[in-house]
Amino acid sequence: MIPHVLPTYNRAPLAFVKGEGTWLTAEDGTRYLDLGSGIAVNALGHANPALVATLTEQANRLWHVSNVYRVPEQEHLADLLVAKTFADTVFFTNSGTETAELAIKMARKYWYEQGETDRIEILTFEGAFHGRSTGAIAAAGSEKMVKGFGPLMPGFRQLPWGDMDAFEAAIGPQTAAVMVEPIQGEGGIRVMPDEDLRQIRTACERTGALLILDEVQCGVGRTGRLFAHEWAGITPDIMMVAKGIGGGFPLGAVLATEKAAAGMTAGTHGSTYGGNPLGCAIGAKVLEIVSDPEFLAEVGRKAGLLRQRLEALVASHPAVFEAVRGQGLMIGLKCKVAPADLVGAGYAEHILTVAAADNTLRLLPPLTITEGEIAEAARRLDAAAARIERTASSSL
Ligand SMILES: *Cc1c(COP(=O)(O)O)cnc(C)c1O
Repeated sequence: MIPHVLPTYNRAPLAFVKGEGTWLTAEDGTRYLDLGSGIAVNALGHANPALVATLTEQANRLWHVSNVYRVPEQEHLADLLVAKTFADTVFFTNSGTETAELAIKMARKYWYEQGETDRIEILTFEGAFHGRSTGAIAAAGSEKMVKGFGPLMPGFRQLPWGDMDAFEAAIGPQTAAVMVEPIQGEGGIRVMPDEDLRQIRTACERTGALLILDEVQCGVGRTGRLFAHEWAGITPDIMMVAKGIGGGFPLGAVLATEKAAAGMTAGTHGSTYGGNPLGCAIGAKVLEIVSDPEFLAEVGRKAGLLRQRLEALVASHPAVFEAVRGQGLMIGLKCKVAPADLVGAGYAEHILTVAAADNTLRLLPPLTITEGEIAEAARRLDAAAARIERTASSSL
């Protein structure tokens, strides 16, 4: 018999009843150190007092009004995002997938308005993840995501990751946009080198193609800058943001330049819940905290400490780990064993991590993780790796 909850997830037999900072308490009272943050969502930790206060205050005032009215909380968050980024304008969504949908629509509408109505091709990269809508799976194109869901939306072309010659050969006057994660998350914490991002930006300038950056996972302070593309010194035309921006409340945003957004006039797009007062009040508080230069410097400093610990971990478990990669507090441990086994060993040591593609274990701790918790995380990961080694040697 099918479970009452549609069984689309491979769930661990764990359920949590309370969260505080970097810690989650399970039903049996066990405390787990959370290095997954709901997959980069709880950027400021669980039950962050500032966010609880903002949510409670706003909840007592106003949750939802229709977008047929002005929404001052939405205007305030848009003002903040425009002030702190390349963007001239913002549309709010409830998830990352919805930002992919609008980014695609916006790019196509841009060329339609230019009179180039058949300029619809969007270049994406192998290993990409942009969400689970029919458009977003067509964009990513991997067998695992699209199989059985055809016919797929046409107009996407996946390029090999890290092959700039293939990219230069593919981009041209038919390219409407290039859509890329500065750091692939689901793809295995694969960082696109700054020089490749700059080369993509230059090729977009040359051909007129719009650059869409998917910063749903790597944005909002995760890398130690407010947005990951800042490291490369470039700006996109359109940017997708979600996950961390709501600190745990479902919120996403598409940021765009005035030029890229030119086709999105009244009636061309919408959302019932997108940009509701509750979500936007929380988003503004998250942004206020995370965009503080001192907060971002702290993320960088703690990332350095964690990185050092992890390099040592890899060195002491050469049969389990291969390398550390990533940027800031978006870290991948490339494994020599199945990452799912390490996630399981982590549960036994009461530490939560997330598996990703390319044989990688993901660490996405709250940006507020403390030095003491970093040391504790290293100890627990070491114990988890030792567990794997014991299992391997006992099965010989
Ligand atoms: C999670 C994610 C998405 C999809 O976001 P949802 O909120 O799950 O719809 C899109 N792009 C990237 C890079 C992501 O990590």
